[in-house]
Amino acid sequence: MTATQDPAQQKKYGAHDIPSYLDPNNIGPYEIYLEQVERVTPYLGKLAYWVETLKRPKRILVVDVPIHLDDGTVAHFEGYRVQHNTSRGPAKGGVRFHQDVTLSEVMALSAWMTVKNAAVNLPYGGGKGGVRIDPRKHSTGELERLTRRYTTEIGLIIGPEKDIPAPDVNTNPQTMAWMMDTYSMNVGRTSTGVVTGKPVSLGGSLGRADATGRGVFVTGAEAMRKLGMPMEGARIAIQGFGNVGEAAARIFHQHGAKIVAIQDVTGTVYSAAGLDPHAALEHLRRTGKITDLPGSEEIGRDEFWSVDCDVLVPAALEKQITLENADRIKARLIVEGANGPTIPAADDLLAEKGVTIVPDVLANAGGVTVSYFEWVQDFSSFFWTEDEINRRLDRVMGEAFLSLWEVKEQHGVTLRTAVYIVSCTRVLEARALRGLYP
Ligand code: GLU
Repeated sequence: MTATQDPAQQKKYGAHDIPSYLDPNNIGPYEIYLEQVERVTPYLGKLAYWVETLKRPKRILVVDVPIHLDDGTVAHFEGYRVQHNTSRGPAKGGVRFHQDVTLSEVMALSAWMTVKNAAVNLPYGGGKGGVRIDPRKHSTGELERLTRRYTTEIGLIIGPEKDIPAPDVNTNPQTMAWMMDTYSMNVGRTSTGVVTGKPVSLGGSLGRADATGRGVFVTGAEAMRKLGMPMEGARIAIQGFGNVGEAAARIFHQHGAKIVAIQDVTGTVYSAAGLDPHAALEHLRRTGKITDLPGSEEIGRDEFWSVDCDVLVPAALEKQITLENADRIKARLIVEGANGPTIPAADDLLAEKGVTIVPDVLANAGGVTVSYFEWVQDFSSFFWTEDEINRRLDRVMGEAFLSLWEVKEQHGVTLRTAVYIVSCTRVLEARALRGLYP
């Protein structure tokens, strides 16, 4: 049931609270974000005066992306770029290619970027982009043309000091190279700082590829220390084996944890003795699927949620942990590699059960943190060593975790609410100081 269908919630989402460009009967992922803002409002003190700012994206651009397909026909795709907030600096956040992308989803993802960037104190607002396309159904040439046309269309509002895209679901360093080149051609100079997550040979940063997974590990490890859970032999279940899930699995494994289950779009594999993430990646590359991995048994998609484990890492898409499965989760700790994987009602249920959640806006901030390092390196044309980057990343993530944990203890709230308290305060402080123009 959506908020507006539920009479108990009708007051909360009055006619003016939901922008007319969203369907009030099916708000989509942005509803999760609105609920999270609702929860933090009582903790904002005088800054609550500005809270409406957080509920409305600053700027939305919807574009048509037409391309020639390889068969000579023309296809049109829906593209978006949403700049949720720029109070603390330029908008910043990834671009996603997925067949289910909607405006509501990109709005939610852009808002979570605002919260995430403020959580680790990066000098950025929040933005996000997306194209509604299933990239698996298109050739490399088609994806290049799509990326270039999309970049040109959103070129009106992006730029190194305005809005800096990066990879997200189904986009990668090659996509960023095409974006950087297209933007550069359009402005007549090579502009490396317009996107991050580029190949290292094009102004990308060492350490960027693993950064999100590494941040998941660093915050997960800190949470385990707080909860008295040893890393050695800790049983980890991972949903998603892409850029985030694979790196997180590999780094947890390196530190002595046991990867007992992996789920991706192709299926779910389990082994009580533990899976080797290197072998899993090798197998996935060779066969195109995670199933039939030697030494594993295949389990049902839904069985994944009840796997015996200590730590659960959802590292795929939104709305995965719901009232349908939250009750069956055995983990004591959930570390959200994905954006928005837990719906608010499941959040409550898990909190009641005593499960600790390191929320997305903290757990997966490692990616954008190294994106920030990349942007700074591009501006100064001075590049750091991988060691230096990892050291700085570990420090940013570790310190953010510890200070946010303190806020959680101080207010007796979940870690998610604690992050929202700190981040929303930072954003609205900037808002209040800047004031309204004109
Ligand atoms: N797409 C990533 C995220 O959701 C990274 C964004 C960035 O590096 O700007 O955090």
